[in-house]
Amino acid sequence: MNYSDLCKVYEDLEKNPSRLKKTEILSQLLKKIKHEKNKEIIYLIEGKVFPDYCEKEFGISEQLCIKALVKSSGISKEKIVSEWRKIGDLGKVAEEITSKKKQNTLFSHKLTTEKILKNLKRLPELQGKGTVDKKLSLISELLTSASPIEAKYIIRTLLNDLRIGTGPGTIRDSIIATCLKKDKETTDAVQSAYDKANDFVLVFERACKGLKSIKSINLTPGHPLKAMLALKAENIQDGFKRVGKPAVFEYKYDGFRMMINKDEKEDIKIFTRRLDNVTSQFPDVVQYVKQHIKAKSFIIDSEAVGFDKKTRRYTSFQAISQRIKRKHNIQELVKKLPIEINAFDILYYNGKSLADESFEKRTKLLRKIIENKRFHLKTAHQLITSNEKQAKEFYKQALKDNQEGVMIKNLKSIYQPGARVGHMLKLKPAENELDLVITGGEYGKGKRAGYLASFTLSCKDDKTNEYLEIGKASGLKEKKQEGLSFIELTKKIKPLITKEIGRKVNIKPKIVVTIRYQNIQRSPTYKSGFALRFPRIIQLRPDRSLKDSATLKEIKEDYKRHELKIRY
Ligand code: ATP
Repeated sequence: MNYSDLCKVYEDLEKNPSRLKKTEILSQLLKKIKHEKNKEIIYLIEGKVFPDYCEKEFGISEQLCIKALVKSSGISKEKIVSEWRKIGDLGKVAEEITSKKKQNTLFSHKLTTEKILKNLKRLPELQGKGTVDKKLSLISELLTSASPIEAKYIIRTLLNDLRIGTGPGTIRDSIIATCLKKDKETTDAVQSAYDKANDFVLVFERACKGLKSIKSINLTPGHPLKAMLALKAENIQDGFKRVGKPAVFEYKYDGFRMMINKDEKEDIKIFTRRLDNVTSQFPDVVQYVKQHIKAKSFIIDSEAVGFDKKTRRYTSFQAISQRIKRKHNIQELVKKLPIEINAFDILYYNGKSLADESFEKRTKLLRKIIENKRFHLKTAHQLITSNEKQAKEFYKQALKDNQEGVMIKNLKSIYQPGARVGHMLKLKPAENELDLVITGGEYGKGKRAGYLASFTLSCKDDKTNEYLEIGKASGLKEKKQEGLSFIELTKKIKPLITKEIGRKVNIKPKIVVTIRYQNIQRSPTYKSGFALRFPRIIQLRPDRSLKDSATLKEIKEDYKRHELKIRY
């Protein structure tokens, strides 16, 4: 297909905010490629060239895109940067300068989607000496033959910022509209297939063959899988009411989630909740898995929790968060910050998916194949009961053991990857905490001069995907305060600045932080309609993605809860 035809679809999608209209536009496109062997155009619609489970990244910075634009257009770097400051979208800058250039030169080759896929797929493979130059020439080759609109979308794709407002839900609905009957059973089956495969091309290929083929999509160990998420319980009683009796109570360990995979070739891979492959950061875990889990292949869901080597007390997530990002001197960190794996679910075992089996069956199997070894790897501490008093004692004990609270689970429920479900609840003491995204900041004065001292916090509007301001946090110290200083945060934010207005800056939403606050109030000042009282930044959440940040819906619920003064 000509890339320009795809770009017209991108433009249509960008122009039409209605999800229904977007579905219609996309299914028109899918009808055209339904009978083609290669359906990878769907990846380009997602702004990628690989399936979602694939960890490969382009590794292209804005600076490299600017270099490529200089090379392909002959326009100076200064001019491009100054346009970028004005417009704030490098894709649009590319469109503008290409249209000026194209008044003089008529471009010779037509770009095809195959060519785009071919060049972009090579980017992550390039390594070692001369990588930057090779990347530059692959990009410039595309930009040189690109029309203005093509240049815009090439740059946006490279920067993982396509801005066509088309999420997985719309792609799923378009696939259904193109080849299946639209009803609840089909929608659930296609969603479940996508959650298991994390690959829309595979889902589309199967959908073309019919519902039966969609339903036969299975989990694959070694491919990252979206974790099942929990809803909040108000208290033990509420927990029983919602999941039924008897219920499963487990410690809610305060660490980070680890999905541990072993495939048929005995290859072990560890993924975070953001689907990042962190296997090389955790050689200790790989070792524990080999020693303490008896199975040929599996996908095990777990929480990694840190502990103090001397006192053997569990520590907070913050204490071990460095381990996720560390690329060098890993062994040193393994010794300094030991972790214990607490396995709480199993979704695949010896060649078979268990996602549709009951939790009761899964947890029994988990306990059968894991040989518990404290401070290495073990199954989550668990109590199955119908007795409220016993459950309360268990909850108290979890808090005494330095854990966040308890999880309350239904015995009969299945595992739904990627879904926030009502059959797995979390119960924590009432401390007001939210994960929010930093979208702006303001430079400080005095010893904070030259550094950002106040940070704008935003939640996401679930309907429009827009980030809405909800408060400003200041008060970070010069020295590390619970692991974070304003100096450190400024450093992280600077490359993300999109606009400077006096002392204020707008930044690209990328950094997720945990906030503690006193109260939520209604407020006309902020776009969200709410304001947090006394928000404090507690910690960076490198383990969380933008998708994990709080939504406006959650804020409204928290606000209601505070109004009702419900205590756990
Ligand atoms: P929170 O911010 O409260 O930790 P969350 O956003 O991390 O919540 P939720 O799905 O809402 O995620 O809460 C469940 C999380 O608790 C899981 O993602 C997992 O990381 C962690 N967890 C700890 N222990 C358990 C357990 N026994 N069973 C399930 N999840 C557990």
